Amino acid sequence: MLGLMQDSPLLISSLIEHAARYHPHVEIVSRTCEGPVVRTNWRDLAKRVAKLANALRRMGIKPGDRVASLAWNTHRHVELYFAVSGIGAVLNTVNPRLFPEQIDYIVNHAENRVLFFDITFAGLVAGLRGRLSTVERFVALTDADHLPADVAAEAYEDLLSPEPGQIDWPVFDERSASSLCYTSGTTGNPKGVLYTHRSTILHSFMVCTADGFRLSSADSVLLVVPLFHVNAWGIPYAAAMCGAKLVLPGPKLDGKSLFELAVAEKCTFSLGVPTVWLGFFQHIDDTPGLDTSGLRLERVVIGGSAAPRAIIERFRRDLGVFVIHAWGMSETSPVATVGNLLPKHRGLPEKEQIDVQVRQGRVVYGVELRIVDEDRNALPQDGSVAGDLHVRGPWVTSGYFKGVGGDLLDAGGWFPTGDVAKIDSDGYVVLTDRSKDVIKSGGEWISSIDLENAAVAHPAVQEAAVIGLPHPKWQERPFLIIVPKPGTAPDRDEILDFLSARVAKWWLPDDVAFVSELPHTATGKLQKTKLREQFRDHVLST
Ligand code: AMP
Repeated sequence: MLGLMQDSPLLISSLIEHAARYHPHVEIVSRTCEGPVVRTNWRDLAKRVAKLANALRRMGIKPGDRVASLAWNTHRHVELYFAVSGIGAVLNTVNPRLFPEQIDYIVNHAENRVLFFDITFAGLVAGLRGRLSTVERFVALTDADHLPADVAAEAYEDLLSPEPGQIDWPVFDERSASSLCYTSGTTGNPKGVLYTHRSTILHSFMVCTADGFRLSSADSVLLVVPLFHVNAWGIPYAAAMCGAKLVLPGPKLDGKSLFELAVAEKCTFSLGVPTVWLGFFQHIDDTPGLDTSGLRLERVVIGGSAAPRAIIERFRRDLGVFVIHAWGMSETSPVATVGNLLPKHRGLPEKEQIDVQVRQGRVVYGVELRIVDEDRNALPQDGSVAGDLHVRGPWVTSGYFKGVGGDLLDAGGWFPTGDVAKIDSDGYVVLTDRSKDVIKSGGEWISSIDLENAAVAHPAVQEAAVIGLPHPKWQERPFLIIVPKPGTAPDRDEILDFLSARVAKWWLPDDVAFVSELPHTATGKLQKTKLREQFRDHVLST
């Protein structure tokens, strides 16, 4: 027998409508690419969202069409979040830090019809323009006075101004696609994760729970994590759901700018990868006598890479801020585990509480986790055995856009994360390794396989392996290990010179070692776990 409750679909448009209606005066503060800080609120933002939605329809954007953004965290980018999804189209947030070839690939693969870009990326867009075969309109996220000279584009504000500031949002299936984010956290071309309205709303509820991020109308959120990184960890949607204030730093992500914005806007909550917080503390250290008493931060979410213990301690001791260590992936919307303390931890000495905080967080309701051995047998969740981490749930992907990568899930519906972890009986996760062949440096991916392929193209290299080693600023940096061809003796600088013509500068290995052989498995695959063990104590030279 079916129940009798109303079956209204969970749609993103309901979030902006709710925020406009019940939190109309809550501010959205944005540092713009033109320079000034712009202040608006949920009510006025919702009007601009309606104008943009009307403009998109006038452009001929239909449900299911893709629209790309190449932009920092500003109010205009948030408007795109709500307007594009609201009319049933799909916002493809493209990461401007990728190589131009990857951006081409993504925009073409997604078949975006319009590209909205910040004026800081005008040069990048000018270079890409001829190669973006599906893009019909280029819109610069600015007004007519600030249109960039180097690329022909329409001004966003001109597009909005003639449109009505109201709209009757369409109602459709909550499983419809809402946004598309490509991940390069696996080998090969970036792969598209296609979120739904339903997955987005369910994820937002979790973000607002007390054992999630505790986001509420009491918060002023400094949104450091980019809107092009997995929906900014779901915060724009969750902030609209609970009526939190949003503070958007625009292109300025240095420690000083973030510190000043946090103080000026009385931010209580923030989120970002570890590298951002290192910059934040660097600013404090470099500014003797800096008055930190104006900081109102209570909670900071750190994820994307392991939160270093030293940052957790500093936040707590120097600023009285609780670090919520979270784990997730593009494929999991992204939040899957959240590091809050349980009642039994509250009376513990500080050191033991921090021991809990350095774990990657605790599983939230809505996500199921398991760890398995090589034969996919489930392992005990007792905190002592490590295995391949699998995940499933309503905000976990079932496959990549256009079927790239084939079937991802096993018969039980589990998605293999490529992370290796231990899980304890309370559901806390500790990541111990990564089985996928990628390195995460400052929150962005480097493919070890691409680096290895580039290295073996050198005439004196017989075999090459790249592993990630811990780095104090970037969390991980690539380390290249080479077996030279017999009779040759290549040196470090020669190899790095060779690679610098083939890979982006920030991909260049921090160090090179030469060995007579590399460890292999019985099937001939490089045994990276062994290499990581062998070079565990190696100190990178740069
Ligand atoms: P992405 O899809 O780019 O968000 O990257 C997801 C991956 O980043 C995960 O599979 C992990 O390898 C890594 N990651 C995310 N959060 C953490 C964390 N808290 N600690 C360690 N690694 C993390």
